[in-house]
Amino acid sequence: MNSAYAAAARLGVRVVYNAEVVGLSIRDGRFESATVRRPEGEAEIRAKSVVLAAGGFESNLEWLADVWGEAAKNFIVRGTPYNTGTVLRLMLDAGAEPVGDPAQCHAVAIDARAPKFDGGIVTRLDSIPLGIVVNKHGDRFYDEGEDYWPKCYAIWGRLVAQQPDQIAYSIVDSKVVDRFMPSVFPPIVAQTIRELAALINVPAGTLTSTVEGFNMAVRPGHFDHQALDDCRTEGLVPNKTHWAQRLDTPPLLAYPLRPGITFTYLGVKVDERARVVMKGGLADNIFAAGEIMAGNILGRGYVAGVGMTIGTVFGEIAGTHAAGVLEQ
Ligand SMILES: Cc1cc2nc3c(=O)[nH]c(=O)nc-3n(C[C@H](O)[C@H](O)[C@H](O)COP(=O)(O)OP(=O)(O)OC[C@H]3O[C@@H](n4cnc5c(N)ncnc54)[C@H](O)[C@@H]3O)c2cc1C
Repeated sequence: MNSAYAAAARLGVRVVYNAEVVGLSIRDGRFESATVRRPEGEAEIRAKSVVLAAGGFESNLEWLADVWGEAAKNFIVRGTPYNTGTVLRLMLDAGAEPVGDPAQCHAVAIDARAPKFDGGIVTRLDSIPLGIVVNKHGDRFYDEGEDYWPKCYAIWGRLVAQQPDQIAYSIVDSKVVDRFMPSVFPPIVAQTIRELAALINVPAGTLTSTVEGFNMAVRPGHFDHQALDDCRTEGLVPNKTHWAQRLDTPPLLAYPLRPGITFTYLGVKVDERARVVMKGGLADNIFAAGEIMAGNILGRGYVAGVGMTIGTVFGEIAGTHAAGVLEQ
């Protein structure tokens, strides 16, 4: 980012902070100006072309509630509080073609003790594939070893969001503690399942039978965290299909999990030049990059690194073509 800012400074680009876009003037698919709110008052900025890169609507708790209902109140926003979807909404209201499902998003399971906004990368928990995950009733609800972690970590926020009160617990035992990134908040530690159940407020009877049932279902295999190994359970609903090892080496460790929303997939439709598609045809001089158009690439699911890739690749494409408009 420092080198990007330095390059902008060399080109004479002025960066304005504390400036919220609250209005867009678009006539017949042509951008004319943006209304910007600053501490000293509102101003209108006119331009020959514009690149929209104002993120998704992940920080807008009311918009999330429209999609997720009551569950949204328990979401934690991993990043900036400023991605409220204002520009996305302005564009959709101005007749931009929407793309992507509002309910689809990148959401990971994060430590429930994280702050409501801006907790960042450190609140993510990567213990999930190494143990079991139970909901507040003490029941497992998904295959914790479904696939390589970078391919499936981003579905766990949605999975936790679908559980009662949007809370779950990742439980591991002491033999795997060195195999995942250290947590920023300390684990809840207990010597027995009953003791752990009391500490995390989950019914002890159910948690005991969940762990015992899991342990009995584990089949012998060769544990390999770096491969889709053959350590799996048999006869469970749901089964754990890789990295299944008995929880049998105290102390037991638990981490409370909440849905941590990273970014939403609903966006404006763009063509291959990152030009926004309006209901009546292509916009003349409006381009979009990053989360605001992520739904063109991401239908559902995620692969690690794609968020930054969309921003970088379409930032370059949008910038190039927006500059091209100036030369016309
Ligand atoms: C905690 C965390 C970890 C992540 N880890 C990864 C990772 O490891 N790999 C990866 O590929 N991706 C990761 N991502 C996702 C990636 O960071 C984002 O997808 C990417 O930064 C999006 O870029 P963007 O430019 O679209 O939006 P942003 O970088 O979010 O920028 C949008 C900007 O628009 C501003 N804005 C919003 N509304 C307005 C308005 N009305 N007026 C003016 N300004 C406005 C915001 O203040 C913000 O500065 C992570 C995200 C988070 C939050």
